[in-house]
Amino acid sequence: MPELPEVEGAARYLDAHIAGRTLRAVAWLHPSLQRGTALHADALVGQRVERVRRVAKWQEILFVDGAVMVVHFRMTGDWAVTTRATAPTYARAHFTFSGGRHLWLVDPRALSRIEVRQPGVLSSNVRVGPDALDPALDADSLRARLSTRRIPIKQALLDQSVVAGIGNIYAAEALWKARIHPAAPASQLSRARVARLLDGVRWTMGLALAQMGRHQYGTATDRFSVYDREGEPCPTCGTRIARITQGQRSTYFCRRCQRS
Ligand SMILES: [Zn+2]
Repeated sequence: MPELPEVEGAARYLDAHIAGRTLRAVAWLHPSLQRGTALHADALVGQRVERVRRVAKWQEILFVDGAVMVVHFRMTGDWAVTTRATAPTYARAHFTFSGGRHLWLVDPRALSRIEVRQPGVLSSNVRVGPDALDPALDADSLRARLSTRRIPIKQALLDQSVVAGIGNIYAAEALWKARIHPAAPASQLSRARVARLLDGVRWTMGLALAQMGRHQYGTATDRFSVYDREGEPCPTCGTRIARITQGQRSTYFCRRCQRS
């Protein structure tokens, strides 16, 4: 599943290709995208793209007139930009832009979501907390957000209303980097540990962003320290990486480095 760094990479890729261009045509190539979307997207034809930005794990394509197309990749979404109108495999939507650019939403599982918001309509991304990479998010404010969560810290990190953009991979990586046990109660972390955790989140996501030329998803797990590495040695101490299940998701961690 694309996580925050991958979505950031995708939004940058899209911005580089379509900012300043005018949308000429929209075609929905899969029924999952047509419900509720097709009616509104036609109104965007003829509008120029101002820019593309990431908000948590959504991408927002901002049009000059104020309309916004909001895209969430869910599990397997991706962009492809081509100069020819030949659909790539698993193309689910086709956007034609001025200058002969073709943008395709490519998604083998066809779970991506697209919404169109008319000018002046507020975001439907309800109750999303501050972005994990927002410089205004500091240890004190994160600790305050965690202070009411009587749940394991791993699950609190996945709650997008606490902090936005952290998924299963980077939650495990950040907790390992911060030497915090994934089952530690979120509400009881000291300020020093929350500061370490925030550093861990930014370190793992910053590393992922730096490693991304263009965006590339999921498959290369060799860039992770503990995620999907059950039984392999911890990069710090050599102890075998353990896997537990929390909230029906796998959590990978080091029992020695992450004791409490
Ligand atoms: Zn270790």
